[in-house]
Amino acid sequence: MNTTDQCSYMTHGAVMPFCKGCGHSNILKKLNDALGLLQLDPHDVCLVTDIGCIGLADALFDKVHTVHTTHGRSTGFATGIAVADKVLASGKLKTIVLIGDGGSMIGLLHIVNAALMNVDVTVIVANNFLFGMTGGQTSSLTPEHFNTITSPFGSMNPSLDICQIADASKAGFIARKTATDKDLTETISEAITFNGFAIVEVLELCTEHGTKRNEIKGNMLAKMAEDEGHEIGVIKNSHARPEFSKKYETDVHSHKGDIKPHKYISPQFNHDLRSPNEIIISGSAGERVQSTAAMFTEAALMCGLHVTQKNDNPVTQGSGFSLSEVIISPQEINFTGVSSADYVVVVSENGLKEIQGQDIFNRINEKTIFIIDETLTIEKKGLNLVVLPLRRLCGSDKAAVGAFDYVIRKFEPFPHEPFKQLLAKRFGEYGKIFKEEFYNLF
Ligand code: SF4
Ligand SMILES: [Mg+2]
Repeated sequence: MNTTDQCSYMTHGAVMPFCKGCGHSNILKKLNDALGLLQLDPHDVCLVTDIGCIGLADALFDKVHTVHTTHGRSTGFATGIAVADKVLASGKLKTIVLIGDGGSMIGLLHIVNAALMNVDVTVIVANNFLFGMTGGQTSSLTPEHFNTITSPFGSMNPSLDICQIADASKAGFIARKTATDKDLTETISEAITFNGFAIVEVLELCTEHGTKRNEIKGNMLAKMAEDEGHEIGVIKNSHARPEFSKKYETDVHSHKGDIKPHKYISPQFNHDLRSPNEIIISGSAGERVQSTAAMFTEAALMCGLHVTQKNDNPVTQGSGFSLSEVIISPQEINFTGVSSADYVVVVSENGLKEIQGQDIFNRINEKTIFIIDETLTIEKKGLNLVVLPLRRLCGSDKAAVGAFDYVIRKFEPFPHEPFKQLLAKRFGEYGKIFKEEFYNLF
């Protein structure tokens, strides 16, 4: 049955933009026929195209939804579209990916992941054994001995069996066909109907780069694949696994009652802050720098302030420096980094090295207050320096805690009470957290 004329999903009068004899034309006609065969409402179809010649398909299908994506990522986009439709909308959308062999290799993990999820997406891999649009380079689906511009003596590697990869990824519907197969329309329509992940690899010719370099014709493609040990036909059609949205319903919905609501911090105190305060604190990993910055921001939230916190530490996490940039403000904050610090707090040698390395001195102003531990020395002249015995009186693991406590008590950006409450909750009675001398510093 050819529905191209009677029930076409294609743009009226569309001219195939491909080179003469290119297999893409055939694949798209068969796709159009498959949609017609299924009598799908065009609004229930979404074509997601990749980069490459096959990506030109968008312009040819003006009745259905089309999304043109980045190279190799079309299956990732399609997965998102299909999940959103199933979980949030009507769930009727049939999402179809058109991708070349090159794109399918660039984004192979998206295909693997979509198959593992068993999301309702059909991936049609237009496999002409090379990157057509960019000049005919080898892809991982290029058969061994196949001649391309980058393998002029024939590809030295065997081709990857993408259907086997799909099988290993537990895809439910897997087929390998050729573009001239008479029943390609039926196979594509079966794949689209399949409720779950389906992949159809269609072997075809790039007449611009493939046939010019290789003695090959359309009727040789199936044999060529078989010679490489690749199965032809509908390889798998199994509904053994539930489609993603069914699993979502049972797995996620059944745990709905277990999901803890996000902690909401409601203002319980007032503040007199008129303008933003920007604070950089720098110390050593494992000495509660970032967690105390978080307590400070929580206390500010309890006073109705806006806050941001941006942390920095080496990838090793547990060693070296630990730094936080904190902003508290009576107004909304649109940028999370400190650009002109009101306070720079340095509580350890690692912290000092880091602020020197990051050139924090370019992010201070003439009023910036530097609070440093008494064990540290800053050579730079003209700083408003406050030297405190933080490590001696608070301990190395609470020097940052003491520093924030000092900032709140001394400069009063907001009331001390919420921070005191948080400290008591975390460390026990407030008056016993630090050495007595610390409480008398002011
Ligand atoms: S370059 Fe190859 S894949 Fe691209 S349109 Fe021409 S024949 Fe088709
Ligand atoms: Mg290709």
